[in-house]
Amino acid sequence: MSIIKTANEATIAEAAQIIQDGGLVALPTETVYGLGANALDGQAVARIFAAKKRPSFNPLIVHVADVASAQKIVKMDARALGLADEFWPGPLTLILPKLDTAGISDLVSAGLPTIAIRIPAHKVALALIKKSAVPIAAPSANSSGEPSATTPRHVAKSLGDNAPFILAAGACDVGLESTVLDLSGDVPIILRPGVFTAEDLEPYLGKVDYDLGHKDASKDQVKSPGQILKHYAPSIPVRLNAVDLEKGEALLAFGSTKFMGIRGGGSAKDLTDTACRNLSEESDLTEAASNLFTMLRDLDMPENKGIAVMSIPGQGLGIAINDRLSRAAQG
Ligand code: AMP
Ligand code: MG
Repeated sequence: MSIIKTANEATIAEAAQIIQDGGLVALPTETVYGLGANALDGQAVARIFAAKKRPSFNPLIVHVADVASAQKIVKMDARALGLADEFWPGPLTLILPKLDTAGISDLVSAGLPTIAIRIPAHKVALALIKKSAVPIAAPSANSSGEPSATTPRHVAKSLGDNAPFILAAGACDVGLESTVLDLSGDVPIILRPGVFTAEDLEPYLGKVDYDLGHKDASKDQVKSPGQILKHYAPSIPVRLNAVDLEKGEALLAFGSTKFMGIRGGGSAKDLTDTACRNLSEESDLTEAASNLFTMLRDLDMPENKGIAVMSIPGQGLGIAINDRLSRAAQG
């Protein structure tokens, strides 16, 4: 059983003690809930991989509370410092060369010469990092391959005993994982789309490329090991760009459902409450992003034979939403 404790000064101190003792704490961030451990302690980090059943070749993001702490772990060039100034704290993860003196467990970087690092924009996460006085390695707080957990209840449901201590602070604001930007080479490359798009970053960097990988890529072709993994997947089939519904399918809508029919007769308004969710009736991408994982979980019920998802525009935050949906559909 997990213990869920509302975040306050006392429970943050309790959680910090657990981190210092080599244990795991599920913590809120602005993106999704993380499953955190002391990034300097190899055994603590190993517990994250075991709890999530995460393949050990898939590296973790290190969370710090300030730029000075980041500079003790990675080499920050002028580009990185400029981005940190503009986008940190916030949902932007930078892949940077690891310093020899970093002291970070090799398990965190899965043996790579680089480290993924960011400062989260959540006062509980920041308070926990400061109180623990160590960098915290934290992937999303869900079993590997499942949709990321965006509420304490989802953490408990996905990880159970494997997340013994959950620091709770309600639902996450953004609801989607951070943008991962590889700054280890000359050309900056987005390895995972998120709130910040190439367009947002280009004023600071010049040209930014995307490399989102794909499921069939061999391990040595991919830049970011997470790219080859089935991710964010419900246990029932997910069908994208649906313009109508099959009988028994649930609907994940975006915008108006007025013209959604059910093959063989009926329309979206005949669906039961357990078979219909709308990411955003007003077609608002920010609202849709924050609802995405919760609604996928809501519809992932044995009584639904699959989830039909209406099309989402492929601009701005829509790039990240479509990336997560296409991975969910590969399950
Ligand atoms: P998660 O923390 O589970 O949301 O996933 C972190 C993502 O960052 C995964 O897709 C990892 O493969 C990726 N990642 C972490 N560290 C690195 C690194 N050093 N180089 C490239 N990708 C990384
Ligand atoms: Mg994850």
